[in-house]
Amino acid sequence: MNDLGTPDEPYDLIGLGFGPSNVALAIAAQEIAPDRRCLFLERSPDTRWHEGMLIDGTRMQISFLKDLVSLRNLASPFTFLQYEKAKGRLEKFVNLAEFRPSRLEFQDYLRWVAAQFADMVRYGSAVRAVTPVRDDDGALSLFRVSATDTATGEAVEYHARNVVHALGGVPRVPEAVTLGPNVVHSSAFLPTVPRTYTDHDREWEFAVVGDGQSAGEIAHYFLDHYRNARVHLILPGYSLRATDNNPFANEQYFEANADDFYSRGEEDRRVSGASLRTTNYGVVEEGFLDDLYRLAYADEVRGRTRLLVHGGSRVTSSEAEGEGIRIGVESRFGSETSVLRADGMVLATGYRRRLDPEMYRDVLPYLKTDGDSRPVVSREHRVRATAELTCGLYVQGFAEATHGLGDTLLSLLPFRSKQIITAIAKDGGSQARAFSPARRDGGPDAATLAELIDRCGSGTLVSAGPREFPVATRLPLVLDRDRGRNGVLFGVLDRTDPQLRLLDGGKVLAVFQPDGASAGEPLSIDVRGCARLVTDRDRLVAHEARVGPVPRPGGSVGIEIEIEALSGRFPLSPEPRAARAESESEK
Ligand code: NAP
Repeated sequence: MNDLGTPDEPYDLIGLGFGPSNVALAIAAQEIAPDRRCLFLERSPDTRWHEGMLIDGTRMQISFLKDLVSLRNLASPFTFLQYEKAKGRLEKFVNLAEFRPSRLEFQDYLRWVAAQFADMVRYGSAVRAVTPVRDDDGALSLFRVSATDTATGEAVEYHARNVVHALGGVPRVPEAVTLGPNVVHSSAFLPTVPRTYTDHDREWEFAVVGDGQSAGEIAHYFLDHYRNARVHLILPGYSLRATDNNPFANEQYFEANADDFYSRGEEDRRVSGASLRTTNYGVVEEGFLDDLYRLAYADEVRGRTRLLVHGGSRVTSSEAEGEGIRIGVESRFGSETSVLRADGMVLATGYRRRLDPEMYRDVLPYLKTDGDSRPVVSREHRVRATAELTCGLYVQGFAEATHGLGDTLLSLLPFRSKQIITAIAKDGGSQARAFSPARRDGGPDAATLAELIDRCGSGTLVSAGPREFPVATRLPLVLDRDRGRNGVLFGVLDRTDPQLRLLDGGKVLAVFQPDGASAGEPLSIDVRGCARLVTDRDRLVAHEARVGPVPRPGGSVGIEIEIEALSGRFPLSPEPRAARAESESEK
């Protein structure tokens, strides 16, 4: 049997990145289309979320109810409240009466969810290229994803019918500014700045560029951690502005409004997007602005000014000067450019969203783009392509122009992941070409074999496990022929069964032997597939009832096997054998 991810057995989807967007997708895949085979590639050694900005004490700007799944499925085992319960903090969290958890805790929640999908993720995999692969019919029906193992430097390749790109934005850096030890983007703030400026009493001169939440938090950090430092806040507007967080404006981030946004004309979308900008970009949360102002005011009381706001200004250049830097600042209110000297500068200048032209070099010629060279994305977040490219490229967070400002935010993740996985499941995933359901040698066809499996009731399951020795068990299995291309087998195991660990995510071979009376001559049916554990209680109860009332003291867990290939090893009845003999004699 080939390994999953080869051209013959491609994944249904490969997700690039395993941050919030693709973790939400993994949840949706398990809950909506568990028969789809997914792999996620993540460059970091674990799931991270804006780690460079996880400043102590900073909080989420949205409610914990806008986690990865609650708004789509409140009963999901992956909600933020389930996380609190699992960590033993639920009552204490309720006691906090806090809708907005700390960012640190939200990252911990993300990691808790991500850990439950560990068998689908290759951490330490840096994706280098996504390349379309031509099949025998001339269509580009598969993607080859090439990656490098960051620990060993080894090159790896996987194939998939769909790629879901969720690698986030890239730091926006002004043209004539070069990043270096004294000039960093906010995304690298915590890993670099505290290490570079270790003397907390020195009279540092820091420059912070930008007027968004990142700029506000970094300016506050400098004033708070370096008691003699001065902070130059260089921002394009007149002053800092508060986030428009009013509930009416926030309704724009509802699922229905995102749909409505998509259905509007281009000019209408542009105007709406611009008018909503202050709900998210270039603004600082109101309570935080008050804190920052109080901190600056306390200095005034002590007779010194440490926060200097340079309104209407843009940083245009920077160059090293001695141990510090020389910063070129252009005023918006005239053509003059001034120079500012500082010991360090942090660019809180936001992010750009674009598909890496190098990574997608061989795919870009097939993608449809708009007047601004942005990929055109369908409602389901699939990038529109020429007819030749039949495999699907989906993007998360790259369609603000057509899907609205919520596209880069957490609010809509539960819905977007559902749209994507539903589209991929409908599309047929890799099943469309991976296996021929019928044997080519005139043996029993797939429908006949499935009927016989139905009658068998139980099969011997042999699992290779992901990297373990084989294990065999006889297990009652029911066949759900409405799902998957050839059907899905379902069984129930005791939750404490040690085989669960080996079966979950592993390739399995199920062997069925219908009794001679019902099938004529002896027949052995081999079912090849990939096993997956099911923890959704409702589905488990419904299926368990069909499998039969088996007492399970430690609770039970469902196991599903998407049938990838079926074959019967002996002739079904004398008729096919006779038919074959005739055709042979004709030669
Ligand atoms: P942002 O909101 O995009 O703000 C960046 C600002 O920098 C823009 O207003 C931009 O102005 C300005 N800028 C760009 N180049 C400049 C230059 N050369 N000179 C002066 N100003 C320049 O970026 P952000 O603050 O990093 O926020 C990004 C997202 O992360 C937002 O959704 C934010 O809410 C989120 N965030 C959340 C938290 C939290 O939850 N606690 C913390 C930080 C960030 P122009 O557009 O005019 O160029």
